[in-house]
Amino acid sequence: MHRPIKSKVYLVGAGPGNPELLTLKAVRLLQAAEVVLYDRLIGEGILELVSPEAELIFVGKASGNHALPQPEINSLLIEKANENKMVVRLKGGDPFIFGRGGEEVLACREAGIPFEIVPGITAATAVGAYSGIPLTHRGVSPLVTFITGHASKSGTLPDIQWELLAKSNHTLVFYMGLSTLPLIAKELIFYGTSPDTPVAVVQEGSLTRQRTVTGILDNIVEKVEQQQLKSPALIIIGEVVKLREYMQWFEEQSYSSFDDAIALSTAFSPESSKYS
Ligand code: SAH
Repeated sequence: MHRPIKSKVYLVGAGPGNPELLTLKAVRLLQAAEVVLYDRLIGEGILELVSPEAELIFVGKASGNHALPQPEINSLLIEKANENKMVVRLKGGDPFIFGRGGEEVLACREAGIPFEIVPGITAATAVGAYSGIPLTHRGVSPLVTFITGHASKSGTLPDIQWELLAKSNHTLVFYMGLSTLPLIAKELIFYGTSPDTPVAVVQEGSLTRQRTVTGILDNIVEKVEQQQLKSPALIIIGEVVKLREYMQWFEEQSYSSFDDAIALSTAFSPESSKYS
């Protein structure tokens, strides 16, 4: 089938929400896009980079606000690309880390739509940096594992080898684990992780609203409840969490993500872009 060259889907990682953590390629594509399909966790300031003429379509999920089911997102991508449009599918963090990006790529492949994939800073590395917790550290943890705290069936843990995780004694990073944190802690302790293992839970990492609660496996659930942490939050478990005491920096400075957003959108305004 003849396909116009312009129609392409760009699967773009938007990073953890702070606009300064976008890649240059993401910024360029956002400015050039004719259609942008975006998720819930796309921070303010990022969508401002999109040209005013572009069609912005929210396909994400917020509480009380229904998401488009994945097959419908896939169909919409194809539909827009078939309209001979340059489509950006903007996803939180990195498209290939718990982002269902692979499913969207397969849908494009099946429909014969050309695509590109643009990596983004995933929540784990952003949160590590902005909370002052190196996910690996010589002599402390030579290994880090990214895990989803959420199985497809809501409220349950994924079917993985908890015994191996519990005994591995290295850094564990749970995405989407806030609601299942009590189950995660219970499971790890049951399979042999020390209840004294340090844990950090970081809400809205890299944004000025970032909040961090630290504790140990045995008391983290209580502490998180007391502090009323909310999603999106990442859980880091392991000895590396102790290094935060020396490496914390972000919460100590006062500046506004709004200022960042303005600075960024001015620097990369569509008028100043050769791609507009
Ligand atoms: N593809 C994304 C992850 C999507 S899953 C990525 O690479 O980052 C959504 C989960 O990511 C959230 O439930 C939370 O656990 C985590 N997350 C995303 N942004 C975050 C942020 N700014 N701070 C803390 N956790 C975040």
